[in-house]
Amino acid sequence: MTTASTLPTGTPTGMLIGGEWSSGSEQLDVVDPATLSVLASVADAGVADGRDAVGAAADAFPAWAALSGRERGEILRSAYELMTAELEDCVRLIVLENGKAWSDAMGEARYAAEFFRWFSEEAVRIEGGFREAPGGDKTIITDHRPVGVAYLITPWNFPAAMATRKLAPAMAAGCTTVLKPAEQTPLTALWVAHVLERAGAPAGVVNVVNTSQPGPVSEAILADPRVATLSFTGSTPVGKILLSQTAQRVVTSSMELGGNAPFLVLEGADVDAAVEGAMVAKMRNGGAACTAANRFYVHASLVEDFSSRFRQALAAMKIGPGIDTGNELGAMVSVDERDKIAGLLATAEDEGGRIDAVSDAPGDGAFIAPHVVHGVQHGSTLTRIEVFGPVAPIVTFEDTDDAIRMANDTEFGLISYVYGADKGVGITVGRQLQTGMVAIDRGVVSDAAAPFGGMKESGLGREGGFHGIHEFLETQYLGITW
Ligand code: NAD
Repeated sequence: MTTASTLPTGTPTGMLIGGEWSSGSEQLDVVDPATLSVLASVADAGVADGRDAVGAAADAFPAWAALSGRERGEILRSAYELMTAELEDCVRLIVLENGKAWSDAMGEARYAAEFFRWFSEEAVRIEGGFREAPGGDKTIITDHRPVGVAYLITPWNFPAAMATRKLAPAMAAGCTTVLKPAEQTPLTALWVAHVLERAGAPAGVVNVVNTSQPGPVSEAILADPRVATLSFTGSTPVGKILLSQTAQRVVTSSMELGGNAPFLVLEGADVDAAVEGAMVAKMRNGGAACTAANRFYVHASLVEDFSSRFRQALAAMKIGPGIDTGNELGAMVSVDERDKIAGLLATAEDEGGRIDAVSDAPGDGAFIAPHVVHGVQHGSTLTRIEVFGPVAPIVTFEDTDDAIRMANDTEFGLISYVYGADKGVGITVGRQLQTGMVAIDRGVVSDAAAPFGGMKESGLGREGGFHGIHEFLETQYLGITW
């Protein structure tokens, strides 16, 4: 079924500052990567707009922080209800500006809404502490306070979920926010902000600046003494630039950065289950996920069976515009991104990989077919960098310790996937993997109720779960003599 390829009625295209939507003096085009046509022009914020947004968030902070957790939670709960009622609008926007398949966008929109529900519940569960000092001279009271204005930067690959995963805990904690979405996908973030407005978020609590100049705008925002914290999701190189900027003012930062997930199929694993998991871990979002399985390590006894069944499942995928709900693999976010993936395939071939394009992709638009790369050597380019597309490099191993060593041989540490002979093997191996998350016998672990985040250069801090709200809270200790 093909759904409407126009923007949902009432989708905002301005920037949002202090409760006012404005079109600004410059415009930024948003392109549908499936058709390469311009979908909309949105306001293109400059440095002064960024500063104004910080001013609006700072002005709104005292009143928002003074609301009870219950009051803030109820606004988030209303946002959950509204978003759920209008989920198809959100899905359509994601599909149109990001290019992903309808079913992937539906999964994302549900996941995104869940952060409003989860943090509406967490807003009333911010715990403190009360205990006697060991020396008996005082009482130790610990309390948590909202840090202040939070600057939130999100990537294009999950335009709804990355926005709500930051907005919901920040607002639940009592922070006010400035959100800067990726320039490729601002429309979904603007729609989410409009949902929050309609749910009752007061003016200035959520401000959104779309910009074609993320560097200068962000630098000015982070230099502003009214900004108390940064929450960033994006690539590791940009994360490092931002960390050096936050260091200038000793501003706390939470970083959700790049991944290079290993997918281990150990001796004795159930190949059918592993292929089913691989299809999700590799192909959700067309491979454009920080959690995407980036390299497959398969035991020599299973490699032939696994590779041929995985190939068969990939070849059966229907490729085309996500707006046709029957398609399972949509477009990459841009022609540049598609070409980058094609370039990596050429490099893999130069390095001795056998490239297997399992089907054909439509010629128009930023489409690329799934590819399996056989005979890959650990250490080659495909095992070192984040591919961010539907490419599955397969490395063969004989010994489990060797597979663990190769899995850990990377500067990244976001997630790994393990299929073993049984759960005990999966857990034993999983505990030796240097990643913030381990999926055992499954292809996806993301959940609003679980701590999402990475070790090593994949990031700092955790989003979601009981941990997410603490990224936006400051601990204060009161030492008391009664
Ligand atoms: P990116 O780093 O290029 O861009 C991310 C955001 O940073 C965008 O909003 C962009 O406008 C902004 N940005 C770019 N340059 C900037 C600068 N100099 N100063 C301030 N902001 C700047 O990443 P991307 O290509 O949009 O997204 C893909 C990357 O995001 C991948 O590496 C992926 O692994 C990562 N990611 C990580 C997670 C996670 O939770 N760990 C989730 C999704 C995506």
